[in-house]
Amino acid sequence: MTYAHGLQEVADGVFAYLQPDGTWGWSNAGLVAGDGGSLLVDTLFDLHLTQRMLDDMRPVTGAQPITNLVNTHANGDHCYGNQLVAGDGVDIVSSTRAAAEMEEVTAATLHGMVTADLGEELSSYIRRIFGPFDFTGIDVAPPTRTFDGALEVQVGDRTVELLEVGPAHTAGDVIAWAPDARVVFGGDILFIGGTPIVWAGPVSNWVAALERILALDPAVIVPGHGPLAERSDLEALADYFRLVDREAGARADAGMDVVDATREVDRLIDDSPYAAWTDRERICINVDAVYREHDPARPATNVLELFGRMAAYDGHR
Ligand SMILES: [Zn+2]
Repeated sequence: MTYAHGLQEVADGVFAYLQPDGTWGWSNAGLVAGDGGSLLVDTLFDLHLTQRMLDDMRPVTGAQPITNLVNTHANGDHCYGNQLVAGDGVDIVSSTRAAAEMEEVTAATLHGMVTADLGEELSSYIRRIFGPFDFTGIDVAPPTRTFDGALEVQVGDRTVELLEVGPAHTAGDVIAWAPDARVVFGGDILFIGGTPIVWAGPVSNWVAALERILALDPAVIVPGHGPLAERSDLEALADYFRLVDREAGARADAGMDVVDATREVDRLIDDSPYAAWTDRERICINVDAVYREHDPARPATNVLELFGRMAAYDGHR
C-alpha cells in the first residue's frame, strides 16, 4: 500500500506522522500543538527514526515545545525513542499497565534475537521483520506519570483526553482524543491494511475498543500502523476479530491442536477481504490468543515459539 510519509497536518494544529508501509515496526505517531506546548503521541522503534521525526516536527515544536509525551502502549515501536524527548518539563504518560509492560521486552532482547543464530528459518524471518531497525543505544525513558481508566491532559491552551481501552493489543492500550479537533490517535488498536496482533486480548475487548473509537464520531482517525483510517476500516477490523474469535474458539472448545486450527482458520481468510492485508502470518498469534481465552489454564506460549510458528507460516505459503 502506498501513501504519503512523514508529517501532515490533519486538523488545525494536529499532525499525523506516518511511516509507510505499516508492517512490522513501521509505526505512526502524532502531535497535538496548543498555545504554549505540544503533546507527542508515541516515539518510534529506534533512535534514528525518532530523531528524524523530531527534526521534521521542529517547525511546530520550536514555537510549541513538547510538554507531554503519551505512549499508547508498551511495544518498542511506540516507546523506544522516549529518551530523545525526556527531560525537565516533559511529562511522559502511559497507563499503569503499559508502564509495567515496558520493562518486559527490552531493545537488548530484540537486538539479541536479530543477531542470534536461531536456525535458518526463524533467524531469516526475524531479520526480515526487525533487521531494518537499530536496537543499540536504547535505554527507554519510562513514564513519569501513569493513570488507569482516563486522564485529561492540558496541552498549552487545549485539552487531550487519554482513554485506556486495553487489555487488547497489549495489556495497557491507550487512545488519545483531541475533542476540539475531533482527531483520534488509535495506537495499535488500529492496524490499517495490515493484520492486527493480539498480544494480550481478550479479542472482545478489542472489538469494544473499536466501537468506542467509532462512538467518538471522529473526523480524522490516525492508526498506529498504516494510512489514515475510515470508519469502514474499523468495521472491517471488528469483523476480522469476530471471525477469528468464532472459528478459533470453536476449534479450541473441540480440543483441536492449535497449529492445525491456525491452518484451518487461515484458509477461511483466503476467501475474505482480510486476505489482502499484510503480515497474514500474525494469524498464528491471534489463534493462540483465542485458545488461551478459551482455556485460562493454558500456559502462555513462549514468544520465540510464536515467532517460530510465524516463520514456518511465512516460509510455506
Ligand atoms: Zn506498533
